[in-house]
Amino acid sequence: MKITEVEAIPINVPLKSGLTTKTAHGEHIDSPYVLVRIHTDSGLQGLGEATVAPRWSGETSQSTVGAIEELIAPLLVGRDPLRRNALCGLMHRALTGNSFTKSAIEMALWDLQGKALNCPVHELLGGAVRGVIPMKMVVGAFPVDQALSLAERFLDWGAKCLKVKVGLDPVEDLARVASVRKLAGPDIKIGIDANCGWSLPEARDMLDRMEPFDILFAEQPIGRDQAYDMATLRSASKIPIMADEDVFTIQDASRIASAHAADIISVYPGKHGGISQTLSIVHIGAGAGMVCHMGSNLELGIATAAMLHVAAAVPQIDSERYPGDLLGPLYHEADMIMESLNLGPVVATVPEGPGLGVELDMDQVKRWRV
Ligand SMILES: [Mg+2]
Repeated sequence: MKITEVEAIPINVPLKSGLTTKTAHGEHIDSPYVLVRIHTDSGLQGLGEATVAPRWSGETSQSTVGAIEELIAPLLVGRDPLRRNALCGLMHRALTGNSFTKSAIEMALWDLQGKALNCPVHELLGGAVRGVIPMKMVVGAFPVDQALSLAERFLDWGAKCLKVKVGLDPVEDLARVASVRKLAGPDIKIGIDANCGWSLPEARDMLDRMEPFDILFAEQPIGRDQAYDMATLRSASKIPIMADEDVFTIQDASRIASAHAADIISVYPGKHGGISQTLSIVHIGAGAGMVCHMGSNLELGIATAAMLHVAAAVPQIDSERYPGDLLGPLYHEADMIMESLNLGPVVATVPEGPGLGVELDMDQVKRWRV
């Protein structure tokens, strides 16, 4: 089998009305992402998705299309797609950073391998260790009334775990978390995510004050690249600390591990440049006594499917303890795939077809293509 074309398809899908999100990084209203389709001379196609956000990784939809068309496609065309490690090596040598772009290409190569072997990606990864994957819904950092009506909507639907975004204004953050806990009652799991928004003294104070609200985890309470401060915070708080923005690469994971800066690493393929790198980070975490959590960048159908295969197959991504953010398609007007994934309210299910187990919906591509 030989690769004949690497196609980059820029799209822009809005979030559903009432489900736009707000974090310490800003508001997320629409998703200008890039879909990837790798064509081969066998007729098989591999699908990928780059959930690019400049505030997150420095990539944009246009930079992703440019990198694929100018740098990556010329390296891949004519080569055997089953030599994924070699192809990714070429890609890494030609282009530094750009993890979400690389992940989209790598994802499409996993999809192709699965289709060529008639095997779902989770089986290529060693097989499912869990039949279903516990998941949660996210309440943005909105004023209390708005946050409460969102939380109520998710709880009425049947959600058993919520993540509340904080990290903007400490007084409002505390009020938001306190009122969501009061509404949810004691049986709902609640974590918080500050997205780098607090200083160290603010974070110490906030975690102290939030302890009575039975907080499952505190995700990225302070800015990235402050591993020693995060270690200080961790030793002062009973709430488990999760590193998200701090861990893109295997070197980042090693740094967090050596500094004893976190209890949990939030992982997902896009942030790490692909599924293989995600596995490496999971193993670094395990070696340092940390567990992992499946995070998200509000993916659509293809990238969420990739996350589901990884979450199903990797025991150290402890979704039973820390339910995953397997939720992107639920927040968007479109998921770009023919048959929607089975997500929520309590668990997500991994698709069973070969490869990623999803098919591109060309009608949706026509509608949302840029
Ligand atoms: Mg996060």
